[in-house]
This record gives sequence, structure tokens and C-alpha cells, in this order.
Amino acid sequence: MLRVLFNTLSLFSLVLAIVFSGFWVRGQFAADFIRCDKNNDVMLLGVTRSGVMFLYLEGFGLIMGSPAGGGSQWSVDTAEPAGVNDGPGLIDDEKSQINFLDLVVHIGTPPFGGSAQLVVLHVPFWLLLLLTMVLPMVRFVRWRRAGRARRRLGLCMQCGYDLRGTSAGAACPECGTARAASA
Ligand SMILES: [Zn+2]
Repeated sequence: MLRVLFNTLSLFSLVLAIVFSGFWVRGQFAADFIRCDKNNDVMLLGVTRSGVMFLYLEGFGLIMGSPAGGGSQWSVDTAEPAGVNDGPGLIDDEKSQINFLDLVVHIGTPPFGGSAQLVVLHVPFWLLLLLTMVLPMVRFVRWRRAGRARRRLGLCMQCGYDLRGTSAGAACPECGTARAASA
């Protein structure tokens, strides 16, 4: 049961890593984002050249004119590729709580002043890949180790059935897998 959960999580994690890799490459040419305008606030989840960015800017509509007109409006769009510090200079390096190799956490006022609240969370692709590759790597190492152990002990490579009592070269009586050449 735990093993099934571990395998499922590893696979899910691997898929995420592949998706992030895809966006990393795509991010060099185009930046996809989801935007939500609610009243005068804007929320944005998108891709930069170097990572995934969440942005919340209070009162943005008061400055730029809100397209939502009092309600909330969702949109999905693609923009020119941008770096984490590109654009309207929303992120103030000195006021950001974390600013390390494109990992940015900024909770405070925007650098252009005012009492508006700005929240920026930018997670770089290198960190996303590092995190999502942990489980698949562990899974891979375990799989290799289990394979070596089975070969060494003379067990079926597929199901682990003890083949020592069976005639050499015969297929596994349990699952029918042809025997791996002994090392
Ligand atoms: Zn077998």
C-alpha cells in the first residue's frame, strides 16, 4: 500500500518535472499566464524566463484601470518572455524577504509607493526541478538496487520468484518472464 503510494507520487513528481522542463524551455520564447482581476486587485500566475511566479497586487486597477469593472474576470494569455525583475519594476530587491538566485518572496508595498499590498512569490525552475526530481531519483536508485539484489540471489527479475530450483535457462514458472542472463 505504502509502496503503491510511493510509486504513484514518484510518477506524479516525474510528470511535474517534465512539465516544468517544458515551461522552462518555452519560457525563453513566451510567457504564459493566468490573470484574475477582482474589483481593483489583480492576481497573476505565470511563467517567467527562469521560474513560476505568483503575483498579487492590491489596487492595481486604480492605477491602470480595472477591466473587471467591479466584478471579477479571469483571463489566460501569453506575453513576451520576461525575467523575474522585468516589467514595471514591481519587485523591490531591498524590501523582498527572500531574493536568492531568482527565488523571490516579497510581501509588502510595491517600490512605486502607495499603501497598496504587493505579494510576489517566484519559484525558479532549478528549484522546482530539484524538488520534483527527488522522489523519481530515489525510486530509480531503489529499482536498480532491487534488480541487482534479485540477480545476485537468483530470483526472477520481474516478480522475485526463487528460480534456483528451476532448470537453468527456463522461463519463470510464476510469471513467465524469460530469465535474465546471469552476470
Ligand atoms: Zn517471475
